[in-house]
Amino acid sequence: MSSLPLNPALANLPVYQPGRPIEEVARELGLPADDIIKLASNENPLGPSPLAVAAIEKHLSSLNLYPDGNAFLLKNKLADKLGVAANNLIFGNGSNEIIEFVGHALIAPGTEIVVSQYCFAVYPLVTKMFGGNLISIPARDYGHDIPAMLAAITPKTRVVFAANPNNPTGTLASREHMVDLINEVPDNVLLVLDEAYVEFLNDPVDFLPFIRRNLKPNLLLMRTFSKIYGLAGLRIGYGIAHPDLVTTLERVRQPFNINSAAQIGAAAALEDEEHLQRTRQNNFNGLRFLEKGFHELGLRFVPSAANFILVRVGDGQRVFSELQKRGIIVRPMGGYQLPEFVRVSIGTPNENARCLEAMRQVL
Ligand code: PMP
Repeated sequence: MSSLPLNPALANLPVYQPGRPIEEVARELGLPADDIIKLASNENPLGPSPLAVAAIEKHLSSLNLYPDGNAFLLKNKLADKLGVAANNLIFGNGSNEIIEFVGHALIAPGTEIVVSQYCFAVYPLVTKMFGGNLISIPARDYGHDIPAMLAAITPKTRVVFAANPNNPTGTLASREHMVDLINEVPDNVLLVLDEAYVEFLNDPVDFLPFIRRNLKPNLLLMRTFSKIYGLAGLRIGYGIAHPDLVTTLERVRQPFNINSAAQIGAAAALEDEEHLQRTRQNNFNGLRFLEKGFHELGLRFVPSAANFILVRVGDGQRVFSELQKRGIIVRPMGGYQLPEFVRVSIGTPNENARCLEAMRQVL
């Protein structure tokens, strides 16, 4: 053991366990990478936005230059699209990095951070990294118990994190509960509404009016280019908030956290309505297909509003391993206190069919 006097917050800090990369599984199992499908990280099965790819290809010969540290073009384009001002926006190296900005800005030893039991794993990680106390509120039907989360707020609370739709459960909180959450979180507590999967919804609750009218200086909406836009590999997400909060978070942002390819690709993807619509339709069809298949296999699942589905398979770790041997990577859920489940990201029609067939064999 090292005798370095480490930051005590790091002593028991778990390490984030991502979905397993295709190449790693291919090496381990001695299978060709092309035979392996990954339905483990809620990526876009149709690939990246073609408009983004074309724009990045054109940009490659400029990679000798540093990116625009303020992402001027992308920021203005996104602001126009959302109907907010450029100073309402901050970009992160994935929305993951925005969560870390929040940690720098608000989380310290002695503070309390309220989350829901089956929340996105990075909220607890960042809370613990900054020495905060995680207040985890038991889930209700696998989703957020918003009245209980509100009731858990104390004078020590600094942040409430809520993803809607939620990952890993895919649950969607009711409109009424979301409005209660916005209205009732006290002004001195930051409410982070993580909308990583919002573009998959047909009729999402629109919180942008709160931002446009500068009504909620303690509200941070988070979105990402990783999911519906298919740009997870570029690492770019964003926060939408009151300009004062943006200014604060900007202080902890590294100058070149968004590389130039990501800025160019994301700007082009914003115009790719066709790719977005195709992705949404594929997702809708894939969810219905898997739900029907799970019914036929007698498996219970949590109805999902996102691009993945949580299904109860008995021994999640065993089913994960058996599927992996058949070239299908899903996500075991033991780390999320859901050991009987695996989470399956929606794939292409072929991938979904292969996954279901393999589950049939394994079960
Ligand atoms: N929030 C939620 C709820 C997520 O599921 C994810 C990705 N798994 C993220 C944030 C982070 O996404 P990214 O860093 O790729 O933007």
